Amino acid sequence: MPEQTPSRSWQYHNPVRVVQDSLTRIADFFPPNAHVLLVTSKGFVRRGMVARIQESLAGARSTLLDEVKPNPDLQDLDAATSNLRRQGISAVIGLGGGSALDTAKTLSLTLSTDVANPLQTIFRQQTNIPWQSRLPLVAIPTTSGTGAEVTPFATVWDHAQHRKHSLASPLMYPDIALLDAELTLTLPEQETLYPGLDTFSHALESLWNRNATPISRMLALKALALAVKALPTLLNTPSSLVNRADMQLASTLAGMAISQTRTAIAHAISYPITTRFGTPHGLACSFTLPALLKINIEHLASNLTEKELLKDVLNLLDNLNLDIHLQKYISPAELLQLEDEMTTLGRNDNYQGCAPIEIAKVLRIATQSAH
Ligand SMILES: [Zn+2]
Repeated sequence: MPEQTPSRSWQYHNPVRVVQDSLTRIADFFPPNAHVLLVTSKGFVRRGMVARIQESLAGARSTLLDEVKPNPDLQDLDAATSNLRRQGISAVIGLGGGSALDTAKTLSLTLSTDVANPLQTIFRQQTNIPWQSRLPLVAIPTTSGTGAEVTPFATVWDHAQHRKHSLASPLMYPDIALLDAELTLTLPEQETLYPGLDTFSHALESLWNRNATPISRMLALKALALAVKALPTLLNTPSSLVNRADMQLASTLAGMAISQTRTAIAHAISYPITTRFGTPHGLACSFTLPALLKINIEHLASNLTEKELLKDVLNLLDNLNLDIHLQKYISPAELLQLEDEMTTLGRNDNYQGCAPIEIAKVLRIATQSAH
């Protein structure tokens, strides 16, 4: 194994207070006179979780936004900002998967400015908005995968223009990430698997990343060690709370890793697949991982224990036959046609593998069994 090069100067800063506790403790985080915007999707209203939060908030006023759609759209978010501005919202809770948390993070920022259509201003008109503050924000993840509860980014999709944007600012770190593994107990198989794959992608992408630091490496390796045991167990025994908690922690740790490094090539490859073919993010950003990991395994491991761990990860990902899952959304030929769109500055160039990478080659290896 090659000796690791001594690290250049680096720092680690993640201001999110991570709290593992019951959802019902939510009131502890807001003053009694708060007017809280609760951002979630209709499923959580149906399942009674919104009622539980509203009950726990006791005297605080709450406004419900339960229209969150997968891959939140820039125009929808601007419209929501404009509708909510007049209501005196003083804090935001995001409850849900990555889309709900990204929506909550975005609104906590856009509700703090008077700029009309702030997201269209930034991303379509390319005009910078100097953000000064955002509303207090609590993120409650209900899937284990995105790590959005601890990152300073939110993904915003411009569906009309088939583009994906990243709203990134240190202001986007939530104040509190509330981890309650019981919320993930009833996730169906696909909502366990695909977000779980996103965790693997975040951990690996932060390892083969030119921004990696000793701390991001430790976070990523611990996330992989937890997830490689928890995910296959959950696919067989979904009701295991211990494994749900391990998977949730893995997701948060991998999120903390990418909060420092950002993601890399597997994510850059995923974006057009999601914008054009509606492929779930966790699948789109992970079907290339076995091909990328095979090339890099010696380079990434700094000792035998790490090498064994990465081999276990590779075996798991290989055995999941992700290319078969992917074919439900996109054919190998369609995939190759998207190659020119699979380059995002600040993603592909984060990739620091043992050799330069040809995207077409990775795609061919990743879809081998489909040919
Ligand atoms: Zn991701």
